[in-house]
Amino acid sequence: MKVKVVKFGGSSLADAEHFKQVARIIKSDPSRRYVVPSAPGKRFKDDVKMTDMLYKCYEMIKNNESIDEYYEKIKERYNGIIEELGLDFDISGELEYVKNAMMHRSGRDYAASRGEYLNSLILSKYLGYTFVDAENVIFFRDNGTFDEEKTNAAMRAELMQHERAVIPGFYGVMPNGTIKTFSRGGSDITGSIVARAVEADLYENWTDVSGFMMADPRIVNDPCAIETITYRELRELSYMGATVLHEDAIFPVRYARIPINIRNTNRPDDAGTMIVAETAEYDTEKVITGIAGKKGFSVITIEKDMMNSEVGFGRKVLEVLEDNDVSFEHLPSGIDNMSIVLSTAALEGKRDKVLSSMNRSVRADTISIEDNLALIAVVGRAMVKAKGTAARIFDAISAAGVNIRMIDQGSSEISIIIGIEEHDFDKAMTAIYAEFVK
Ligand code: ASP
Repeated sequence: MKVKVVKFGGSSLADAEHFKQVARIIKSDPSRRYVVPSAPGKRFKDDVKMTDMLYKCYEMIKNNESIDEYYEKIKERYNGIIEELGLDFDISGELEYVKNAMMHRSGRDYAASRGEYLNSLILSKYLGYTFVDAENVIFFRDNGTFDEEKTNAAMRAELMQHERAVIPGFYGVMPNGTIKTFSRGGSDITGSIVARAVEADLYENWTDVSGFMMADPRIVNDPCAIETITYRELRELSYMGATVLHEDAIFPVRYARIPINIRNTNRPDDAGTMIVAETAEYDTEKVITGIAGKKGFSVITIEKDMMNSEVGFGRKVLEVLEDNDVSFEHLPSGIDNMSIVLSTAALEGKRDKVLSSMNRSVRADTISIEDNLALIAVVGRAMVKAKGTAARIFDAISAAGVNIRMIDQGSSEISIIIGIEEHDFDKAMTAIYAEFVK
């Protein structure tokens, strides 16, 4: 029998109605055997996510405020779901335990993780599936990094014993037994870890959109959905700010080449986006797969005559960044100049020191820094094959009256990165999209 791992995001489990819908989806396909839930998300625009409520409890306790009243809201939400589902399950003991543990300072991550923990208990009861606590099967190392191999072995051994199971997303355990979470949105990573462990045929990631859009719908009007995207393309797009899936969620399934299907819980008949290891196929009409971008970059420009013949120049520049614990994004260089594109935030509090150290180290003719740069990544596996793609991108941008500050084709040949001024961001995105999608 095929095995599918299904992860449901917070909006898919925000209330009892959504729980029912989730159960229908799971039960409609017997291969949907392993389920990874998030904590309840927002039910309406100004609602508060359970995870944020729990973070708030943690802060209140830290400030010596009573959480008695606030915690009632958390209880009400879980009890409300149980009641509306008509479940014969008393979660009050668990809720009291969590409250007490939080008050005994069990940590910020512990508090946040309980959103997933409690939701998974309810869902496992509702589905009649075994509950497997992530704290027994997801491991972090002492330095806080995720221990992939230990986790994979333990998760595999555990899940092989259960035909069907619910595993809470978002958290695992440190070697000293304390709970640690992934970064926000990390249930996507848990889903991927589970998919790898059970060697799933497919990892379905159920959310509230019908897949990835070719561009950010807040900027481009009604963009097309992406049918198929490779891991590498997705990585490029998520790195540049396209959200939907946590950017680290690809790693666990990548080696096993398990495809991920982004699906919409509210529109289960939509095919969604398929994320695959590789595919030679592409849409000959659109050519590009997607566009994404981010603001908030700075560029340091170093000029020095005869730079290109000076051995060790690049190393000296990069050494300064390393010494200051600053990472860079791009390094486009000319004959007598080199630019370093990096996030403005990375330079905070270090800007003067970095510039003066660089000056000292390479004795440049000039060093300058400019802020308010935006980067746009145009991503597409077809770009290698389809001639003239770069020219089309640049023509479209210049026809929109936007000045290009930097171009970086990168060595991957699946993306072209363009640096522009922040105020031209929307204009450039719209122009590129319109050029490729008629
Ligand atoms: N509940 C966590 C968050 O809000 C993790 C997740 O939903 O994936 O970030």
